[in-house]
Amino acid sequence: MGYLGAAQAVKKVHQKFNMSNQQTQQLIGVDAFSWKKWDACTHCGLCLPTCPTYRELGLETDSPRGRLYLMGSAFKAEDATPLSEEWSEYIYRCLDCRACETACPSGVHFGELLEQARAIYEQNAPRSAMYRFWTNLVFKQILPNKERLDLIFELMWLYQRLGIRWLVQKVGILKLMGQLGQMESLLPKIPPPQLKYTIRDITPAVGETRYRVGFIPGCIMNQVFTETNVATIRVLAENGCEVVTPRNQTCCGALHLHNGVRDIASTLAKQNIDAFEAEHLDAVIINSAGCGATLKEYEALLENDATYAEKARSFSHKMRDISEFLAEIEMIPPTGEIEKRVTYDEPCHLLHGQSVKEQPRKVLQAIPGLELIELTESEWCCGSAGIYNITQPELSQEILERKMAHIAETDADIVATGNPGCLLQIQLGIQKHGLQMKAIHPVNLLDYAYRGIAPEEFMPEQ
Ligand code: SF4
Ligand code: SF4
Repeated sequence: MGYLGAAQAVKKVHQKFNMSNQQTQQLIGVDAFSWKKWDACTHCGLCLPTCPTYRELGLETDSPRGRLYLMGSAFKAEDATPLSEEWSEYIYRCLDCRACETACPSGVHFGELLEQARAIYEQNAPRSAMYRFWTNLVFKQILPNKERLDLIFELMWLYQRLGIRWLVQKVGILKLMGQLGQMESLLPKIPPPQLKYTIRDITPAVGETRYRVGFIPGCIMNQVFTETNVATIRVLAENGCEVVTPRNQTCCGALHLHNGVRDIASTLAKQNIDAFEAEHLDAVIINSAGCGATLKEYEALLENDATYAEKARSFSHKMRDISEFLAEIEMIPPTGEIEKRVTYDEPCHLLHGQSVKEQPRKVLQAIPGLELIELTESEWCCGSAGIYNITQPELSQEILERKMAHIAETDADIVATGNPGCLLQIQLGIQKHGLQMKAIHPVNLLDYAYRGIAPEEFMPEQ
């Protein structure tokens, strides 16, 4: 069903209520679109060969340049076209992988423009009551609420632990549950809940304190990859860091921004800035690439907020991915050996979103015995992209297949990657293809090397 485009809505409201164009633009949110950044595109097309959706589908409308054109055509008052469901399909089929940003010679901030376009769409689209209910539940009631998130994942842990999952899979109930059943099959093994309660507000440095750093455990990261968070804190402490993990921090808002829920993302950003500002830190550390990219962009998110613009700038400048921080300081070399063949897959939001490329490799190469094997097209998306594997399952699988073919070629024992979505997606691909490999976060490998834990212990099935 077609309906009014944002710019057409401006005109209609303007006529009906005799409001100024500026007032009506504010009403539907188009005034928040960064036209200056959009105008930077010269339509050269150099980004097209790097775009995974363009490569898979071969359509200009599924390319970065095409999507920028669609944004302009829908939001510019003078030549507005209907903001239809078809329009939204092209905009939502984008992985937000930002490979086009790395390729772009004109410095177009594609990710930011995409997030703004989705926010305008969400504000004006006639979504069903059911859709509104679910988005409100997930983005407003669950993700920002740590207690609710803890409860949900503790129930999931019990579901797996008590063998209910095995029973449900055996009886074939999942096949009858449609989309919900597919989501269940993506559910990783949830670690014991007590592990996350071992993370203290302040963890002292081992030996002399060289730095005082903040740590962001993340929301989903802390529920599913608790061991990586515990390992990150240990590695930081080992390198002379006192680690502060404020309890009043919250979800970073990355999933909100990627899905057009910009107002809640701004509220969450302010809560996080306040939580860390009082701690007087040298740096704030994150081990999840997707969250890290968002946290570094609080500066852009709040640039027009009179109270928070400066605080957001200062916060974003302190943000570091764990590998970036370790490469910056003089990292204490580990002595434990990991005699394994390891290949590294680059999370899009680390490479394209934060320009962090060599640092994770440097961390891995510091581990004695580890052989690093370069992965062909390591800079390409694996198809995980936040909740893309749930919202676009077929395309996500096609993109993963290409990645898995390259991973299989390496004949590695371990695929190292620093983002929860990529770890889950690649582990899924490994299982699907029956490969004798394991997807592991680089900081876990470093932690094993510091503690002298042999591969037979952390990869017992190998
Ligand atoms: S963000 Fe990724 S999928 Fe989206 S247009 Fe850019 S390269 Fe293509
Ligand atoms: S986004 Fe950049 S690379 Fe792509 S067409 Fe525009 S200017 Fe060229």
